[in-house]
Amino acid sequence: MKTALVTGAARGIGLATTRLLLEDGWRVAMIDRDAPELARAAADLQNILPVVCDVSIPEEVEAMVLRLAETWGSRIDALINNAGVAEFGPMADCDFAMWRRVMETNLDGVFLVSQACAPMLKEARGAIVNIASISGLRASTLRVAYGTSKAAVIQLTKQQAAELGEWGVRANCVCPGPVRTKLAMAVHSQEIIDAYHDAIPLNRYGSEQEIAEVIVFLCGEKASYVTGQVIAADGGFDSTGVGLP
Ligand code: NAD
Repeated sequence: MKTALVTGAARGIGLATTRLLLEDGWRVAMIDRDAPELARAAADLQNILPVVCDVSIPEEVEAMVLRLAETWGSRIDALINNAGVAEFGPMADCDFAMWRRVMETNLDGVFLVSQACAPMLKEARGAIVNIASISGLRASTLRVAYGTSKAAVIQLTKQQAAELGEWGVRANCVCPGPVRTKLAMAVHSQEIIDAYHDAIPLNRYGSEQEIAEVIVFLCGEKASYVTGQVIAADGGFDSTGVGLP
């Protein structure tokens, strides 16, 4: 049975990805820092290992990876770095604490979990899928911290593909467009929602399932010659050249 590790697995895109991987016969280590939400999500699932862990804290990441190795052995076939936070504001309003909160989870977390899992990924000739955002591809006046963190994740993906390729490890990045998760609905005003509907060629938000399908494709054998790529699952938004609302 193949082993996947999904961060931010307690809800939203991470939970949809977990469910899809389980349907495809994987076993999944579900990682999240929100213990009650993780327990709720894990309650009706089989072949999972829920581990409470904040991906931005090196000691917690080390302990989480050790727990996984002790439970299921020293191979990881797919690592999905999905945990993320969003706080919107222009540079003028972004105090350093906000900047750090966003960077710690969205960028440091991807680095720490990837570094800790790299030996187990090499063992399995596995795959990394990092979840960035269309906000990492395109600038807006509201996303100085979030957009910058996601642009860095895109570059980190390319670095990982270059560095780990000789061990047969692939690394790709998915850039979702807007999806109605808790994260998005906390920062999308009605004005942003309306603007997205107009700007997106498919004229709608995506679903968690639509993003998960792309992630799971990149984890598996069907993507065996795909690495270092950035794939927008965004209803065509990035192709239009229209600015982010
Ligand atoms: P969500 O808020 O529904 O889920 C995020 C999960 O990550 C939560 O369960 C949360 O507890 C967990 N998490 C946050 N910080 C963590 C940390 N430091 N350690 C461990 N777990 C942590 O959000 P979502 O929309 O499903 O977001 C998933 C990913 O998709 C994020 O990286 C987000 O930036 C990205 N994304 C989302 C959208 C969107 O519109 N929803 C668009 C583009 C990109």
